[in-house]
Amino acid sequence: MTAQTVALVTGAGSGIGAATAILLAGKGYRVHALDRDEAALAALPELAGLQRVTVDIADESALGEAVARIAAAEGRVDAAVANAGISFTAALEQTGAQDWDAVMRVNLRGVYLLARVTAPWLVKSGRGAFVATASELGTVGQVGLSAYASAKAGVINLMRVLALEYAQRGVRFNAVAPGGVHTPMMEREQKRLGFTVEDAARNIPLGRLARPDEIAPVIAFLLSPEASFVTGAVWVADGGYTAR
Ligand code: NAD
Repeated sequence: MTAQTVALVTGAGSGIGAATAILLAGKGYRVHALDRDEAALAALPELAGLQRVTVDIADESALGEAVARIAAAEGRVDAAVANAGISFTAALEQTGAQDWDAVMRVNLRGVYLLARVTAPWLVKSGRGAFVATASELGTVGQVGLSAYASAKAGVINLMRVLALEYAQRGVRFNAVAPGGVHTPMMEREQKRLGFTVEDAARNIPLGRLARPDEIAPVIAFLLSPEASFVTGAVWVADGGYTAR
């Protein structure tokens, strides 16, 4: 009998990560939901196979220890979703080096760290798959997003490089590039910058923001055996925003 698939999802306490963790648990994965926000993890529903792990995914030793503990307990890691991210919007003049570093630390370094620490286990799995949540804003420019969009572009090319490095070792690396998604991150940005859901939806050809549960299935597909020939890809799910 094939062992149950063990997956790690970062930023799983909220938004896209929470929807992904819940979807994967429903599909029978053993899911380890990683987030630095303990209260957010506690608010996830009780589901068979869903475990909560409080950790700052950009802290190399803390993440290494957390993944080692999970892998030792499970004996395997088959899938990893590098989804944790933070938003930051400011013009270049208002983007200090410390802001730049804070965005890079979580949004790019965090993805690299998760890849580095899970890759040996994904190779061992024989069916390993890694998905990073990038953004449509890693493929096009937008005013005020120098740090965020640069990090997301970095994530996309990191996935391409790792897809090549691991192509002969049976691990697939892909990026999902969502457009505007109605999550707590989006709500915080709306409040801070003074725009509404309608404003955000105006530039999206489908005329609305996505729900987190519309991005989670794309991630689940990229992790699944159905995506066995998909590696180094950027799967855009943006309601048509970048189609123009
Ligand atoms: P969210 O803020 O609702 O959830 C992000 C989660 O990541 C939070 O629970 C937060 O605690 C966690 N997190 C942040 N930094 C962490 C760290 N250092 N260690 C551990 N956990 C950490 O955001 P979301 O909208 O669900 O975003 C998820 C991902 O999708 C992010 O990478 C984001 O950049 C990306 N994304 C979001 C949108 C959107 O419109 N919401 C669009 C494109 C891409």
